[in-house]
Amino acid sequence: MSFPSHAQIQTLRAEFGTPLYVYDQQALEAAAQEALAFPNAYGLTVRYAMKALPNAAILRILSGLGLHIDASSGFEAERALLAGVPAEHIQITSQELPQDLKGLVERGVLFNACSLEQLEAYGRLFPGHEVSVRINPGLGSGHNNRTNVGGPASSFGIWHGHLDQIEAIRARADLRITRMHTHIGSGGDPETWKHCARLTLGVAARLPEVTRLNLGGGFKIARMPDETSADLADIGGALISDFQNFAGEHGRELHLEIEPGSFLVARAGAIVANVVDVVDTGSEGYTFAKVDSGMTEFLRPNLYGAQHPISIVPVDGNASQEEIDLLVAGHCCESGDILTPAPGDPEGLVPRRLPRPTPGDAVVIGGAGAYCSGLAASNYNSFPQAAEVLITPEGDLRLIRRRQTLDQIIANELIDD
Ligand SMILES: *Cc1c(COP(=O)(O)O)cnc(C)c1O
Repeated sequence: MSFPSHAQIQTLRAEFGTPLYVYDQQALEAAAQEALAFPNAYGLTVRYAMKALPNAAILRILSGLGLHIDASSGFEAERALLAGVPAEHIQITSQELPQDLKGLVERGVLFNACSLEQLEAYGRLFPGHEVSVRINPGLGSGHNNRTNVGGPASSFGIWHGHLDQIEAIRARADLRITRMHTHIGSGGDPETWKHCARLTLGVAARLPEVTRLNLGGGFKIARMPDETSADLADIGGALISDFQNFAGEHGRELHLEIEPGSFLVARAGAIVANVVDVVDTGSEGYTFAKVDSGMTEFLRPNLYGAQHPISIVPVDGNASQEEIDLLVAGHCCESGDILTPAPGDPEGLVPRRLPRPTPGDAVVIGGAGAYCSGLAASNYNSFPQAAEVLITPEGDLRLIRRRQTLDQIIANELIDD
């Protein structure tokens, strides 16, 4: 693994302590350029799904490159506004209606109605306005069932069979449904993605005012050496003729939006931690490296059995070269806090061939830019939220989030005395 370099790891540990999230601005920008080059027939907007990594410094970099924002709650929309993202570049796609939807929309934030109930609510607040609808096209795909958000077993979006109910609500509030959205899951199969895009075009054909089609995110990203990332040029290229045929048939040149999260940030991030202990359970058992991180920074193995590259970087150059079968355990008092689960099975254990560790060695977890800092069991066991550092293209180490203090963890508690 080349990021971060050995020299950077030592500096990062000395300057900022562990556990620590580290992001590579160059990798982030390269991924953004790749997304901005997504082939399209009639124009493209790339929305960054900010739930993947919501730090303001990251939002500013991506917004500065021309990306818009997908906010998954009213709070995320506020956060993007506070980071300086223009309101009209933010669209809310949320399971829960923001408390101040009215205020957000009045400031210019866009709204994507994800249920009939949400569409009704929007219609009551803003009769006569434009709106987007999120459709469940009847099919989904994810790297596992927990990240599949399409099909009959998914609550996301308005079921494609309910177009008549959409039309009834639209007519009552005189809404104009000019945008349509689907997002079918994270990290699924590119072929299913293309198939869903075509199903989605079929639904758009029946919503006559739609001129912008958002096909969501979910592009598969390779974290482990044996995985392959989705090829955006291939996926986008395959859809151009579908958009052209749609224009020919329906007289609408649809503007395309895509909404990647993982694709933009997953490989731009790593977690730097320390080995704090090494234990074993005898000759029939396992050897464990315990690290000062785990589900407090890195919940994906625990949730999904997610596989990430893990390397051990010795304290000094003359450490053992011997490789052993090693399980890596997190610091939480919970047997499920294992960083090396079986693929797709959080309860399984699959040791990795790694150098025999010594306490004090560094551990680097790769592919940790997406859904790590943003999706963690923060403060479990009262461990403070880790700091975040950005490595700039010039190689400077920029602290973009301080480590939380114990006082901040307990700040909102009220004690009777
Ligand atoms: C999470 C999410 C995304 C991004 O998914 P990735 O798999 O990270 O690309 C895009 N759109 C919506 C609506 C989402 O909820």
